[in-house]
Amino acid sequence: MPSGSSPSPLLIGDGWSPDQTGGLSRYVTDLFGALAADGAPPPAAVVLGPVQHPPDRCSVPADLDDPLASRLLRVARAVRSRSTDDTVIDSHFGLNGLLPATVGTTRRLPLVTHFHGPWADESVGQDLRHRWSLRIRAGIERAVYSRSHTVITLSTAFRRLAVERYRVDPWRLQVVPPGVDLERFHPGDRGTARRRLGLGEATPLVVSVRRLVPRMGLDDLVRAAAAVPDLRVTIVGEGPAQADLEALIAELGIDDRVALAGQVADDVLVEHYRAADASVIPTRSMEGFGLVALESLASGTPVIASDCGGLREALRGLPGPGPYPAGDVDALTDRLARVAADPGSLPDAEACRAHAEAHGWEAVAAAHRRIYRRAATGAQEERLRVAYLDHTGAPSGAELALLRLLPALTDRVAAHVILGDDGPFLDLLEGQGTSVELLPIGGGASTLRRASLDRLPLGAAAAFGSYTVRLAAHLRRIRPDLVHTNSLKAALVGGVAGRLAGVPVIWHVHDRITSDYLPQRAAEAFRAAARHLPAAVITNSETTRATLGDLTVPTRTIACALDPALGPIDRSGRTDSGLRFGLVARLARWKGQDVFLRAFAEAFPAGPHRAVLVGGDLFGEDDWAQHIEDLIRELGLDDRVERRGHRGDMGPEYERLDVLVHASTLPEPFGQVVTEGLATGLPVVAADDGGPAEILGGRDLALTYPRGDHQALAAQLRRVADDPALRARLAAAGPEAARPYAAGAIADQVLGVYELVLAGGPG
Ligand code: UDP
Repeated sequence: MPSGSSPSPLLIGDGWSPDQTGGLSRYVTDLFGALAADGAPPPAAVVLGPVQHPPDRCSVPADLDDPLASRLLRVARAVRSRSTDDTVIDSHFGLNGLLPATVGTTRRLPLVTHFHGPWADESVGQDLRHRWSLRIRAGIERAVYSRSHTVITLSTAFRRLAVERYRVDPWRLQVVPPGVDLERFHPGDRGTARRRLGLGEATPLVVSVRRLVPRMGLDDLVRAAAAVPDLRVTIVGEGPAQADLEALIAELGIDDRVALAGQVADDVLVEHYRAADASVIPTRSMEGFGLVALESLASGTPVIASDCGGLREALRGLPGPGPYPAGDVDALTDRLARVAADPGSLPDAEACRAHAEAHGWEAVAAAHRRIYRRAATGAQEERLRVAYLDHTGAPSGAELALLRLLPALTDRVAAHVILGDDGPFLDLLEGQGTSVELLPIGGGASTLRRASLDRLPLGAAAAFGSYTVRLAAHLRRIRPDLVHTNSLKAALVGGVAGRLAGVPVIWHVHDRITSDYLPQRAAEAFRAAARHLPAAVITNSETTRATLGDLTVPTRTIACALDPALGPIDRSGRTDSGLRFGLVARLARWKGQDVFLRAFAEAFPAGPHRAVLVGGDLFGEDDWAQHIEDLIRELGLDDRVERRGHRGDMGPEYERLDVLVHASTLPEPFGQVVTEGLATGLPVVAADDGGPAEILGGRDLALTYPRGDHQALAAQLRRVADDPALRARLAAAGPEAARPYAAGAIADQVLGVYELVLAGGPG
């Protein structure tokens, strides 16, 4: 079909709403409605019944209860008779999509599949116990996904599941969050809704609208409710877990205030949302998005939700306390108790509605149309496909640098990040919509300290070996154009795995490869590997580059990208009598917290100034944290030091400071904190070598001192404290000097290296 024109979508679903319950039926019905309303070629649908009033162009060839074989054949036949040459099939359930996708004339039609959840896994704990049967289910799902042009998930959490569990090629996955019917679900008067439902007006009330299956965690809700006297709970929905829930409610003796309302009509459902002080979504596992969250918010009712799967994404940006850890009954009890005590403590109806309004169906339909058009023309990913490797889930500087680089590359690079360990870095990537996957290294190898790299314990060596083989197989399967490694361990395993898989590897080196930072043998081995494994090397500074020796491959120095959220801060209205001197660095011996504190104590033996330590112990260096605590006491600084710990959002931290101090005792490989200090207009005092010296470039942008010399640092601290004009001049010059570090400019340079490698060019 000609590119640009719109094909006709044919949705294959399992059920139809409201005849069948559950998010999947609701989704298919609403998507069908949105596609029917957008003026492009109208959709068709084939779903299982019974359906009382199917709309035009919706076939119901069989009922859910019909024998499997005849059901599948009849669905396949209906799909065939509904399709034309212009059809794009959009399958919402692997089993029903299997025959149309793999046999007969329809198998030549372009196929889009929605991954709504792992059907095989979902069956565990329900009626299916035979492993072979689960395997067949998973096999069917994989067959349909591998035939699909695009696989759509509703959240990045489920995209990750599709990659990790079903080995769906990451480049074929697209995240399209669902819509909510903003007309059907809209706010109304709480008192009226309660009267209509025959509920008392005064008592606090929460509602939970869910299919009654174990993974929904409704038993957690019942247990938590038992510990909150006076709270009433309505559970709307039906399903196999109903009898167990009834038994639990009776056993806890709370049947006077916890009610199962069963399945209700749509208009009554809206009343339930409106009547409640909050909706509760206590899911324990596998939540693709949580449409009910949007329905509740659209009805003006706040949500208390677990952090399972897509729920975090559904609620991101909403004011309030955020999700609680899935399965944590105490945390849920605490949330319920707070609502019972003060229903006004959650976001108000206006804020809830505003959040839901960002999720209209129109935009969802438009996103689907774009995907259908690409599927119809067979268009493939045009951007470069780059797999990024990092061994850790801890968000230290190198990881944050990658986090900031990727959004600036997104027009030109389809990024997929593979992490060797779980952690907040993974959440941050997922939170910004980056495709990410956890391929665990295991054996304790990912958290191995630098110092033990030359005498690898046998277990860790074996873990690295087996990881390299697994990674190579994975790279062979997903076929990226390039591999970009972001840490030393990732450089070694990724370098070998890339070679085995025949994919060029670019090393991005953020650390100095020297014996003051690494064990001598590890540094030598790394330098030798740098001559053989990568196709190109990026270093974050000339300081880092100089430690790699002579390289035979193209090598480029590219600075770290600045966090785009950081900009000049207006400090003119400050009224504090003292200044806040801040050191922003993770708690590690070489980051020089001790040098800073000694200098501060010497410069200001007393007075209103304060020292601020921002940064946490990311890599288990407890002994250093303890050492710093002892030192603070020894220097008598207890009342004048603020320990902020690790902070996720650095903007407010820089806002609180008046002077930024850098005190690393080894040459800093780059020093993102220095560019951040400049960008936010903080006067900077930094050690006079390594990355900071390169950033400052001999210009009069900051005060410097000989690295490690706390007395010289003390002198500079006094100077900056005594001279407001100096502070003002440095603050004014910083933001301009930070401009070259904007993520867009850095991304261009990185892309230049990708192009060089793909063109096979010389250094
Ligand atoms: N950082 C942070 N939270 C903290 C402390 C530091 O997000 O509590 C950030 C800081 O803003 C900077 C990065 O961590 O972006 C540290 O990078 P740098 O290059 O200074 O040091 P590295 O950790 O790479 O050695």
